[in-house]
Amino acid sequence: MKVLVKDKINTALNRLAENSQVYVPVHREGGSRFAPWPTVPGDELALDSLNTMFSPKEVVLPQTEKMYTFAARGQSVEIKETGEERKERVVFGVRACDSKAIAALDEVFLTRGYEDGFYKARREPLIIIGKACTQPGPNCFCSAMGVDPLEPDPVDVIIYDLGDAYGWEPRSERGQKLTQSLGDILADRDFQKPSAGEFQLQVDINGLPEKLAGMFEHPLWEELAEPCMNCGICTYLCPSCYCFDIQVKNRGTEGYRFRCWDSCMYPEYTMMAGGHNPRGSKHERFRNRFLHKLEFFQERYGTSLCTGCGRCIVACPQGINIVSIIKRLQEVELDVR
Ligand code: SF4
Ligand code: SF4
Repeated sequence: MKVLVKDKINTALNRLAENSQVYVPVHREGGSRFAPWPTVPGDELALDSLNTMFSPKEVVLPQTEKMYTFAARGQSVEIKETGEERKERVVFGVRACDSKAIAALDEVFLTRGYEDGFYKARREPLIIIGKACTQPGPNCFCSAMGVDPLEPDPVDVIIYDLGDAYGWEPRSERGQKLTQSLGDILADRDFQKPSAGEFQLQVDINGLPEKLAGMFEHPLWEELAEPCMNCGICTYLCPSCYCFDIQVKNRGTEGYRFRCWDSCMYPEYTMMAGGHNPRGSKHERFRNRFLHKLEFFQERYGTSLCTGCGRCIVACPQGINIVSIIKRLQEVELDVR
């Protein structure tokens, strides 16, 4: 068995960065996110704390992404693709809730007969080093959403926190190759895999998607949505929310088109030409977010779009808590006559 002694983390990351773009979790400017290694002055590695504020979704679906540039030349327009990233990439320290979210993004962007070229260019060369979670935080409920915190999936390597070192276990061919490239940095040591601690937050989602299918018009949605300000923070920080908009930036006759994260919590998201909005009210937008997470995605892809990371619970300025919402929905007694 192999371990990475914690004193050698920088050496290992430097080695990986020789041939790959490496991303690590860092504390930065009062928050935390996955950032390129080597980090900038002021950053501090955040491997030993729980979830980062921004999820590793940014590594495969950046907040903004240039798609192409254009320039008018007389009567013609010159269009240049911005180039897809093909360099090998490594993301270090992804937790089980976030790797499950990447699996959901893979379904959306790479399956059902459609491949998103921008996503594929970032995802295909990506090696994921997952980190087993042993101590769930007060807002974590991944196990209730079918995630095993000790078994991040998909990953190429799993690391286990052993105190002075990380137990190192390759899980794929690419993970094996990467392990070989760190051969002189990793040490041989037998270790016992740690077990996971107790979850403080529990919720039962059994039968929920089927039940929600009969709750579209239920008056509870208006009550649940009442405190929501439609600020969209929950969707931006969510590791599995993937909606984006396409916008243009131009100066004179030149410019570029880019895509950027969008949110179903905003009225503009569904605004149509002519002014009609099929989700014109706050509770309709709120309902859509929860039905997409807990019903629609399940129906289409066979899994929930919530991975129980708890970020939206921590970030919501109005204290809206998805676990409490699921519990309220489960308490409803439907008239099935
Ligand atoms: S973070 Fe809270 S207030 Fe903001 S849109 Fe989400 S649920 Fe609504
Ligand atoms: S809905 Fe909330 S708890 Fe679920 S994956 Fe998104 S941010 Fe995490």
